Amino acid sequence: MRRLLVHVVIGLAWTGLALLARVQEHSPYASLWFPPAGLAFAVGVILGWRGLPGILIAVAAGTAGALFNGDPRPWAERLVTGLAYGAAHGFSYLAGARVLIRFGVERPSPRAVSAFLLVGPATALLATVAGLGALVVTGALTAAEARTALLPFWLGDAVAVIALTPLLAVGLGALLDRLRVDAPERLYVHARVTPVGSGARGFAFKLGLCLLPLAGSALVVAGSPVQALAGSHLVFFGIVPLTWIAHTEGAVRTYAAIAALSTAIAGTGAALGPGLHEQSYQFAMMILAGSACFGLAVPVLYSENQQLRLRLTHDSLTGAHTRAHFFEVGERELERARRFGTPLAVAAFDIDHFKAINDAHGHAFGDAVLVAVSARCRQELRSSDALGRLGGEEFAVVLPMTTEDAAVETVQRLAEVLRREPVVHAGEQRQVTASFGVAVVDLERETVPAALARADRALYEAKRAGRDRVHRAEPLPPQG
Ligand code: GH3
Ligand code: MG
Ligand code: MG
Repeated sequence: MRRLLVHVVIGLAWTGLALLARVQEHSPYASLWFPPAGLAFAVGVILGWRGLPGILIAVAAGTAGALFNGDPRPWAERLVTGLAYGAAHGFSYLAGARVLIRFGVERPSPRAVSAFLLVGPATALLATVAGLGALVVTGALTAAEARTALLPFWLGDAVAVIALTPLLAVGLGALLDRLRVDAPERLYVHARVTPVGSGARGFAFKLGLCLLPLAGSALVVAGSPVQALAGSHLVFFGIVPLTWIAHTEGAVRTYAAIAALSTAIAGTGAALGPGLHEQSYQFAMMILAGSACFGLAVPVLYSENQQLRLRLTHDSLTGAHTRAHFFEVGERELERARRFGTPLAVAAFDIDHFKAINDAHGHAFGDAVLVAVSARCRQELRSSDALGRLGGEEFAVVLPMTTEDAAVETVQRLAEVLRREPVVHAGEQRQVTASFGVAVVDLERETVPAALARADRALYEAKRAGRDRVHRAEPLPPQG
């Protein structure tokens, strides 16, 4: 039932887009683009061959009803033409989409965008040749008419594929999700490429900027036929705000902006009628859409970079600083402490009998203990303090602007917090304690790792003395 609904939606959308193409004709049966081609390709990307019925029915019905070609023959002959054309159109786009998805289109990577910009127009060419062939074979067009139509049909299809397929594919994927219809290819990651973003008003402003060059261009073309070609080139300035959108608004908004700008350009082309500007507008639609898609590589790389950096600096289990990053933070705090002459303390701690906890409750419980210990410590510490996981169940803390007495006090509070509340995980619970060693860094003679080594020795004194306690480190021996 829901699948049937999907085909009905696809059929209606295809018909609606065919009507949009009709409305945007600048002269009989000629417009800057053919939007249904973008939908057919999107259906192929998302649904594969299963998308054929909706398209076939829509194309056949549209052709039989003389929706998008003014065929004067009886309806039965038009229906045969419609079925032949629908099959040629549908098969071509679904086959092209099968090729495209081999390149991995789940995310707008440079590879996926390059593949899309090559396979899309190639598929449009196949669909044009096959479609015109079907029209000729079924008697709707003469061979000579088909030859004349080849280039404009191809350009119109290619423009629509490049400008509309990304938005329609993401939209169709979202629709299937909502209807809970299982689809093999979905474009989840595109929806997740949402970098900074700037709210609906910011986006509307940028979209308005995209339309501005088009408006200027239309004024020049309409006002001065001599300047028509130069005027139409103004549209290319739309690449600046469009790239801005791609870098800041995420993939879905970028696709929406491309679709909106393309619709506006095709509408303007229709209003201005045929002329010198026409092909500039078509190429502008392709170049603007293609470059904006490439622009998405930047936020994709940016967000991946951020994730990688997070992996390098923070332990994935506990969220504490990794060993290397912890020592970097320590180095920075040492410099600051030296510059301002403020005290700097460090502490090392190790969970007591952790091996026994793992043995008694399992490794997953052990992991939950690590997570809980880290979370409780971070809650207790100041935001300027840094907690690092140096290995296994060993942690360390850097405490800027903290004297030894204050550090001991803080660390005793940590010990108390751990001791007070048992860790609960998967129906089991256990009291967890840790042993601590505290040292204050000798700013003139010591580095943070050296001070931590002293704190570590104090930590092992605490273990020997019976665990669950805090020990102060031995001071550095006097100089000389
Ligand atoms: P002590 O009180 O002397 O510190 O005894 P302990 O058992 O805590 O010390 P030991 O160093 O002998 O054992 C540490 C254990 O921590 C051994 C290792 O299997 C376990 N471990 C290390 N990393 C992880 C981890 O990421 N997850 C879990 N669940 N266990 C870990
Ligand atoms: Mg231990
Ligand atoms: Mg240990």
